[in-house]
Amino acid sequence: MQISRRLAAGLLAAIALATTAAPGASAELRPLPDCRYDDDLTKYRAYADWRRTLLDPIYMVPRSYAPTDLLSTADAGLNGGYLVRSVVRDRLRAMGTAARNAGAPLAVQSAYRSYATQESAFAAEVRRVGYARAVKQSARPGHSEHQLGTTIDFRSYGNTTPAWNYTDWGTTKAGTWLKANAWRYGFVMSYPKGKTTVTCYIYEPWHYRYVGPWRAKEIRDRGLTLREYLWYWDGNGY
Ligand SMILES: [Zn+2]
Repeated sequence: MQISRRLAAGLLAAIALATTAAPGASAELRPLPDCRYDDDLTKYRAYADWRRTLLDPIYMVPRSYAPTDLLSTADAGLNGGYLVRSVVRDRLRAMGTAARNAGAPLAVQSAYRSYATQESAFAAEVRRVGYARAVKQSARPGHSEHQLGTTIDFRSYGNTTPAWNYTDWGTTKAGTWLKANAWRYGFVMSYPKGKTTVTCYIYEPWHYRYVGPWRAKEIRDRGLTLREYLWYWDGNGY
C-alpha cells in the first residue's frame, strides 16, 4: 500500500517532534496554566532575561521593574515620543526600513509603559468597558509586556488612527506585512487570532514583542504562541 505524500509528511513531522521533545518532556514540566488572574512574580525577571520573561494574567514583574537602557523610538528611525530598550533598536530600525521599502510603512502607537502608566491605562479601560472585558484586552499593572521595554504597538504610518480602532488592522498593508515578516527581525505577535484561550488576550494584530530573530523563528517554525513557547521551551514551565 502506498502512503500518501501528506501522510508521509505528517509521519516525518511526528518523528521530528518526538526526537526534539520539549526540554521538559519529563514529569517536571507542568501543563500550561489556564487563564486565571493571579499576581505571582514571574520566574525570569532580571533585565538580562528579557527574551524569556513570561508575562500573562498570572505572572508579573514587580512595580520596580524599569529597564535602564530605554531610548527613543526615533533612534530606530521611527516616530519619536516612545521608548524601547537599546537591545531592540537595530532590528526595529531594519524592520521599519524594510516595511517602508515594501510600501507598508509603520509607525509606533505605544511602546514602553511603566507600572504606574499601566496602572492608569488599565483603570481607564475598566471604567470604559468594565472589569470582565478589560482583563481580556488590557493587562493589569505588572503583567504587561509593555513594561519590558521590548514591546511595541504599531499603527499605519500617515494615519494616526490607533490600530485597535480598525475592524482588523491585521488586514491592512502594514498589518499584513508585519504578520508575514516581523519574525525575520525578531518580533512576535503575542496575541494572534483565534488563540485567546491560550494567550488569555483578545487578538491584537498590532502588538509585537521583540524576542530576537532566533526565538522568533523557533516560535514560527513550531507554530506556537509566545506564551506556549516560553512555557514549554524556555524554562518557565518547570
Ligand atoms: Zn500592546
